[in-house]
Amino acid sequence: MSTTPANEPSFRDSVDMMFNRAAGLMDLPPGMMEKIRVANSTYIVRFGVKLRGEIMTFTGYRSVHSEHAEPVKGGIRYAMNVNQNEVEALAALMTYKCALVEVPFGGSKGGLCIDPTAWDEDELERITRRFAYELIKRDLIHPAQNVPAPDMGTGAREMAWIADAYKRIKNDDINARACVTGKPRNLGGIAGRVEATGRGVQYALQEFFRHKDDVEKAGMTGTLDGKRVIVQGLGNVGYHAAKFLEEEDGCTIIGIIERDGALVNEGGINVESVKQHIAETGGVTGFTGAEHVANGALVLENDCDILIPAALESTINLGNAERIKANLIIEAANGPVTAGADEILRKRGCVIIPDMYANAGGVTVSYFEWVKNLSHIRFGRMQRRHQESANNLLVDEIEAMTGKNFSPGKRDKMLQGPDELSLVRSGLDDTMRIAYQNMAEVWHAREHEGVDLRTAAFLISIDRVAQSYKSLGL
Ligand code: GLU
Repeated sequence: MSTTPANEPSFRDSVDMMFNRAAGLMDLPPGMMEKIRVANSTYIVRFGVKLRGEIMTFTGYRSVHSEHAEPVKGGIRYAMNVNQNEVEALAALMTYKCALVEVPFGGSKGGLCIDPTAWDEDELERITRRFAYELIKRDLIHPAQNVPAPDMGTGAREMAWIADAYKRIKNDDINARACVTGKPRNLGGIAGRVEATGRGVQYALQEFFRHKDDVEKAGMTGTLDGKRVIVQGLGNVGYHAAKFLEEEDGCTIIGIIERDGALVNEGGINVESVKQHIAETGGVTGFTGAEHVANGALVLENDCDILIPAALESTINLGNAERIKANLIIEAANGPVTAGADEILRKRGCVIIPDMYANAGGVTVSYFEWVKNLSHIRFGRMQRRHQESANNLLVDEIEAMTGKNFSPGKRDKMLQGPDELSLVRSGLDDTMRIAYQNMAEVWHAREHEGVDLRTAAFLISIDRVAQSYKSLGL
């Protein structure tokens, strides 16, 4: 992986610099810019858990960036390098992300300094439950106030432990399940949440390619079909994004960058086989369907149509930005391009689809899950069969009137009432389309002022947050 140069601002400073660039173009009331930019609070907890015969002390964080809308929302990350600066930057991005895609939440983020691979499942469960307890007793996990979700190093398993810990403490809360999203289906999770962020990246690219002028700005023509893609990080987000683009949109995945090097093959790499290889061996080394490059970070600089950084922040920085050749970058990770790199790439004419939009699929489907939990019924349960009989009537009538029959495959498809997964996908697709259209409108209208997609995204988010604060009397 690439290392960040010493002169690179911190992650939080980088997010703030991008924020400032946009806020400087706005006519905000005095003090509003500062109010929106700063994190409202960051809680740091150090707690002990008795493990392997000794008391181990862990450090965890939950930062609340903005409470202009509640609950506040954002994942909990498990990684050794979690720190206050990082959770505050990520919490800020959650605020802007939710505002941009019209998900009615404020921004928050949490983290625990831990290497999840160093502990077995029982140990992780005890650590997670204890961390959850510390947050629950301060209302930093609460269906109406603060709703965590998975992030790097966590998933449905951890969310199940957190939901259960909450339920045990708040036994009389009928909405207890809504205290966390990204849960397994049997505990109130929603269909399509695991794939949601990657699916959102796919929908974002599909919408981008519907805008021919924007595609041209990125030096391309045509559709996604045949586009050459490099993805960095084959975790939950990178894997799903790359898989859907390969299997459903005809993209060729020509590079996959992982911790132990990169795989390259101009003819295309099968994402599913690589994922399986990683599951079996722990890395990409030894995969036979592509050439292995030991210094994976170098592959970020390879020629391609679309570059998808889907791992850590600051991957594209002052140290490598000049050498990045892609003309279209879609930020599946949070903060993968630093403010300095962003400037270099912008000047070169590279189009960047910004993180707060590109990876908003996760929190969008989290929102659907939260609504499902509060309404205590799965989406489509009341309407599905009703819709099917209405469709049946219509199809029968058309066939009778025309004297012709639909082909059996088409007929079955037309009759189908929507199940939860198709409703979630349709809601997500709609969200990604509308948010892109909003951003593109601002981008095109203010391009002469130096507004790019990221600045457009910030302009929209900041304006929405400012409106909320104004209505609240600030
Ligand atoms: N951790 C994800 C993100 O960064 C999801 C957050 C959520 O669903 O609340 O957007």
